[in-house]
Amino acid sequence: MKPLGELIQRPSDPAWMLVEEGVPGPREQEIESILAIGNGCLGSRASLAEDGPLSRPATFAAGVFTHDVAPGIPTITRLPDWSHLEILIDGEPMKFDVGRMLEHRRVLDWERGIQWREWRQEDADGGVTRVVFLRLASLAERHLLVQSVRVTAENRGRAIDIVARLPRSTARVEFDTAFQTHPDPHAHELSESGDEAKWSWTVAAGESARLDRVVSVRTTRESAESRSRAPLPAAIVQRGTLESHIEEHVDTWRSRWNAADIRIDGDESAQRALRFAMYHLLSAANPDDDYVSIGARGLTGLAYRGHAFWDTEIYMLPFYVFVDPASARALLMYRYHTLDAARRKAAGYGFKGALYAWESADTGDETTPSTVLGPNETVIKILTGELEHHISADVAYAIWQYWRATADDDFMAEAGAEILIETARFWESRARFESDGAAHIRHVIGPDEYHEPVDDNAYTNGMARWNLHRAAEIVATLRQTRPDDWSRLRDHLSFEDKEVDDWWKTAEALVTGFRAESKLFEQFAGFFRLDEVDVAAYRQSGEAIDVALGHDRMQRVQAVKQPDVVALCALLWDEFRLSIHKANFDYYEPRTAHGSSLSPSLSALVAARLGRVTEALELFRLGANIDLAVENGRAEAGVHMGALGGLWQAAILGVAGVRLRDDGIAVDPHLLPGWSAMEFPLRWRGRRLAVRITAEPLEVEIAVFEGGELAVSVVDGPAGRVRQGKRVRTRRESAGWTTWREEAA
Ligand code: BGC
Ligand code: BGC
Repeated sequence: MKPLGELIQRPSDPAWMLVEEGVPGPREQEIESILAIGNGCLGSRASLAEDGPLSRPATFAAGVFTHDVAPGIPTITRLPDWSHLEILIDGEPMKFDVGRMLEHRRVLDWERGIQWREWRQEDADGGVTRVVFLRLASLAERHLLVQSVRVTAENRGRAIDIVARLPRSTARVEFDTAFQTHPDPHAHELSESGDEAKWSWTVAAGESARLDRVVSVRTTRESAESRSRAPLPAAIVQRGTLESHIEEHVDTWRSRWNAADIRIDGDESAQRALRFAMYHLLSAANPDDDYVSIGARGLTGLAYRGHAFWDTEIYMLPFYVFVDPASARALLMYRYHTLDAARRKAAGYGFKGALYAWESADTGDETTPSTVLGPNETVIKILTGELEHHISADVAYAIWQYWRATADDDFMAEAGAEILIETARFWESRARFESDGAAHIRHVIGPDEYHEPVDDNAYTNGMARWNLHRAAEIVATLRQTRPDDWSRLRDHLSFEDKEVDDWWKTAEALVTGFRAESKLFEQFAGFFRLDEVDVAAYRQSGEAIDVALGHDRMQRVQAVKQPDVVALCALLWDEFRLSIHKANFDYYEPRTAHGSSLSPSLSALVAARLGRVTEALELFRLGANIDLAVENGRAEAGVHMGALGGLWQAAILGVAGVRLRDDGIAVDPHLLPGWSAMEFPLRWRGRRLAVRITAEPLEVEIAVFEGGELAVSVVDGPAGRVRQGKRVRTRRESAGWTTWREEAA
């Protein structure tokens, strides 16, 4: 049997890894988050195996929440530490501050989904010990977590002990652990409590001792059937198949990267930021589980208690739609399975249809806390759970995007249409016709949470209107194309035909906030009358504007946390003319504090589409730095999954300008300064394609590998077709784009 550490070498290509040198310091908790491992079912932070004063170890299982931390507010459960262990050299625990630390680094191997740690420590007598740790959450078998540690006595013979703590099963979560030692299966001692096991070796200079641990984690929320399919660690270890499990994990990662990887030439930092983003996005999804969503921080930290927000549908989903549609579908099915909770929430406020929870956990019932503790223990009232209603339209939007990109008609007929209809019903009852003859949606919070509550929020109303239109469209489509499904759904929802007329009426009458003279959308009623404030000054100084000005003053100034109108433009791009996009970006960008991690990415997308490439690059870097910045990074309580999904969108939908068309895709390239080329795969309605864009000469090349022919075009340029197995190319010349020419495949 080949030793693990030799079979799988830690990577050496800097483009495929993230390296954190040195011993734990002030960034320790950020490092634990950004180097976390996960597979959509399990996630585990990169804390030191032996723990330490700065560590916040945590392992989570998707969908497993605890109800007794805060009354009424489910909190993702922190599972027992499955990988805790301590190393003793000649009977003394190995520690950074005993003797001299020679080397210590942690490495996240993006390519293979493996977390490495290398540590060399010299003791007072000059004896040097080297330790190599590896940890992974298997992507091939999602119940498995694997750890391996190899201790080498570099320059003199040693007694080596490894003491491993054993995770205990709890009422909801079952752990099964098996160990394997090298050389030779070794006897071990169990502590009296049975919680710890100790292995001992005597090794000569240059020799190693190694311990592998395989843990299977099964939860009561899974079906008995899926639990029984999970392989038992003891069987894996006994059969000596751990290596093959790891190989399968590595192979699965390879195939994920084949479907996802974006290559950027000329901008190493953007390349790394995108790989980092895709690593966490790929680590967070599970196509086999229809009952969980992805929390705002994935399974990498405790912020927001593991709750899911609109971050999933608006920021992360496009990545899955174009890269891993099965995971996108599973995420949307979570919203289908929580539709009853959304109906309960709407009914509770006296509305019809479905109002999704602003923060959603296991059942889909509202889980937003009503207060949180602010600085100096002040109690801050939280209104988002009651008033941030755009979430319902966001879910509807995601369903439509998934359907357009995949043509998954079964999903639409069986689940998606019901959500579109129920959310439309909500908006129709939520909007009120007033004496001015217009329909208003008053008293909401938009994505810009600095202002609360507001009337006629442009984002909320614009998305609600869009939601009403799409629901009407899907009713007509189903009626025509799937009459049996339609009649079943119609009965199920007690649907009346006149509802569609009401949707149209409401949609047409909804206040949009649009001003023809200036081409601006007013973010909410009265926004333009608020005081101007120098948002840029706060952005430069790094001081949080909402903290500096205080809640009351914030209500009276034109400073926004994240740009509702720019987000609306990004999502409904084809509905507005370019001059409208320009006017609104120019107005709102200087007024945006980017106080939400979600904020920079959609702004970067819009800037890129407008050809404002310098601004787009600045915004892209702002988004990338949220988790990755070495100073002022913000990942200590988990990576920002929405921001990471947004970064992918900025690159693919913004810089490459990918748009969905009914018969294929269009691109609108605006490579950012320094980007000499970008290349990426995409999936569209069963096709697998690859797009390559170069800057000089400006060329677009599209190849189709699978799934048949499709139409391609450049926005404002020629249309063409690519046959399966072929590639076509167009080039920008002084007279415009050349016609698409087929190249040798
Ligand atoms: C967020 C809200 C959230 C609230 C409570 C705030 O920081 O902006 O969206 O609902 O925390 O979790
Ligand atoms: C943002 C919300 C977001 C939440 C979770 C808040 O700070 O304002 O838009 O959904 O964080 O990421």
